Amino acid sequence: MFPVVDPNRPVLDPKFYREAGIRAIMTNAYLLKRGRPGQTPKDIHGTLGFKETVATDSGAYQILEYGHVGVKPAEIVAYQEKIDTDIGVILDFPTGFHSDARRAGWTVDETVRRADEALKRIKRKDILWVGPVQGGVHIKEIARSAMEMGKRPFSIYALGSPTELMEAQRFDVLVDMIVAAKKGLPQSRPLHLFGAGHPAMFPFIVALGCDMFDSAAYALYARTGRYLTSDGTQELAEIEEFSCMCRICDRTTPDEMRRLDPPEREQLLSKHNLLACFSELRRIREAIRRGHLWDLLEHRTYANPAFKKFLAKIIQHSAFLERFTPTVKPRGISHFGEASDDRPEMVRYNVRRARVPVERRKAVVLLPGRWRRPYHEDPRNLPIVSKLANKSNVSICFYTIPFGPVPMELDETFPLAQTESSDSHDQIMYAQRARRVTAWVKRLSPKQVFLVSEGDYGVALRKELAKATRQLKVIGIQAKGSKPDRTVGSIIRWLG
Ligand SMILES: [Zn+2]
Repeated sequence: MFPVVDPNRPVLDPKFYREAGIRAIMTNAYLLKRGRPGQTPKDIHGTLGFKETVATDSGAYQILEYGHVGVKPAEIVAYQEKIDTDIGVILDFPTGFHSDARRAGWTVDETVRRADEALKRIKRKDILWVGPVQGGVHIKEIARSAMEMGKRPFSIYALGSPTELMEAQRFDVLVDMIVAAKKGLPQSRPLHLFGAGHPAMFPFIVALGCDMFDSAAYALYARTGRYLTSDGTQELAEIEEFSCMCRICDRTTPDEMRRLDPPEREQLLSKHNLLACFSELRRIREAIRRGHLWDLLEHRTYANPAFKKFLAKIIQHSAFLERFTPTVKPRGISHFGEASDDRPEMVRYNVRRARVPVERRKAVVLLPGRWRRPYHEDPRNLPIVSKLANKSNVSICFYTIPFGPVPMELDETFPLAQTESSDSHDQIMYAQRARRVTAWVKRLSPKQVFLVSEGDYGVALRKELAKATRQLKVIGIQAKGSKPDRTVGSIIRWLG
């Protein structure tokens, strides 16, 4: 994340960025140029007192605010080269939030035209040039823009003007926008999301495939006395104790901070806000390393109903996310109930299960898949499995809460054997899982079905099996009160 620095009104001493381990910042080349009329452009690192990576925006956002900027696309490219920026943005034409489809289409074409012009004028190949994707809230236009810009050799692509959407919490639109851009752009290049300011939403945009973003929110919120946390925004006026223990919050109390002069208070709040953002980034990176980013999304939905809608919208694109989710992860995953049903690993299992080759016309033995995994190692399942596993006329399947049917052949594969789940005794979930198990059983066209029934899930499964087809011969055995040895004995007798 690039903290946005106003070149003419820097709030924080650049020393603070260094001390906090922040190695890249973003500023606005257009504002810098305008603030120093007639002056020869100077090295941006010297101007800001920041030796490490500096990205410069071109001033396109100012077009959005003021209509025009009085600077030509070629001019702003040359200016960024002169000030020795590390990451430069061409002067695109932002679509904005209120444009109709025709206007959006025009801004897409105009941005492509400007991109071609800029690419001709670019001399410095050591600068990473950013190609912005336009289209506003018009998803078709975004897709077209992404395809067109993606054909051009930019090092980084960026999605423009979502700030208004985020302020209005229209995360649903934002999700469609990001997905449309991702689908059109080359997968090998990073995507930057302009103006993604609040730490609470970082995990969602990262999950959607945004690699980089910039934020001015830390400073803007501080100016109006707002304190950022990963769960949302708090008013400094209403805080009694800081829950954060960053270097700022640890040294002062909310009361002391309130009593400071406004500029000093703004500075301290900005610092905390920035550290809160970077702390969230650490949490996200660590979650990715552990393969737990989705868990973080689910967790975040409890902070604010708007985030629940955010995740619900992301879930609509589960199949797309699944394509980029690792097949195997370093650690197991968690199934927390309904919201976890759409996590990419679950979507994948439901699709790929159908690809497992099966032998038909056997007897199917359905055993309860309890908390112990792999399911066949459950001490109540093991004696049954060990006697039946080698029989050529028997197929074993576990009926489980997180996955529905788990055929014995897949019992030790990821994520089946590594998923933590709990039984919430949800009758609707039992019925839904029972339908999946039944569909699997039907695929096997079994001679007989032995259902070792346990609890309400077993009852639900019995019902679904009975509904499925009259030809299915189901033999029910109560797991409760029957010793595994006796259960397996009666199955073998029935098999004949
Ligand atoms: Zn803090």
